[in-house]
Amino acid sequence: MATRGYFAVDIGGTKLSVGVVSLSGEVLSHGRATTPQTNVWDALSDLIKSQLKLTDVELVGCGVGCGGPMTRDGELVSTLHIDEWRDFPLRAKLRDLLQMPVFIDNDAKALVQGEVWCGAVAGQTDVIGMVVSTGVGGGIISGGKILDGRIGNAGHIGHVIVEPDGRLCACGSHGCLEAHASGRSIEAITGKPAAQASPEVIGNTGRLVGRALVSVGAIMDLRSAVIAGSVALGFGEPFFEAVQNELDRSAKIEFIRDFTVCPAGLGQLSPLVGAAAVARNLGCDS
Ligand SMILES: [Zn+2]
Repeated sequence: MATRGYFAVDIGGTKLSVGVVSLSGEVLSHGRATTPQTNVWDALSDLIKSQLKLTDVELVGCGVGCGGPMTRDGELVSTLHIDEWRDFPLRAKLRDLLQMPVFIDNDAKALVQGEVWCGAVAGQTDVIGMVVSTGVGGGIISGGKILDGRIGNAGHIGHVIVEPDGRLCACGSHGCLEAHASGRSIEAITGKPAAQASPEVIGNTGRLVGRALVSVGAIMDLRSAVIAGSVALGFGEPFFEAVQNELDRSAKIEFIRDFTVCPAGLGQLSPLVGAAAVARNLGCDS
């Protein structure tokens, strides 16, 4: 009998990834391409078609992680980093192309679902996942379920305010975590890409991420965080140490004491496993 699995798609501002993930969360094959400036759908559908040709896995459905905002269930996506996608009918397009059920969620919400499925926080029921990269995103698992909120945006930790009267954020507010800790903001503040940040900048970024986590932890009654994204993973150990120090310093109320942070356990493949987890959790489980 043929192996069964999910088709997984991760749509980012700088790269597109597709792959086949087994029903137990193992990435069986994958491919990627740079996100072009224009004709993004053509590039994505070419990548998908070539990946489909390479696999003999029986696909039970497709899960997608995509930058927001989007309408509920990803029917219409307006990914901030893809200018030509405004109310883009992604779900219908993918259904037509793949001829299988398609399930779409925000990329950070996808990530945390993958990490509790088979990553660094496997089996945990109350945890926040963060992506610290070009922007800052988040998703919350509460009582074992992904939190959606009113229209699907729950977990947007990037817009928790961490600096009173801080920098202007792309959202229009001041002092949001994203306005201080995202790759784009770090570059604007220091004049250098985040990859060349000084130890002081890395420490300060970690401190602000920790500050936001303490607030979210108190509201959501959770004390576990997993962080992915090129900026966080690129900063590495000194960043995670700074986050943990801030958690130790500020998470004082009893139920969030011992709040711990760890890096994503699935590395580069984390977004694809997360995308598969979206399909798995939305009812496409066999
Ligand atoms: Zn903001």
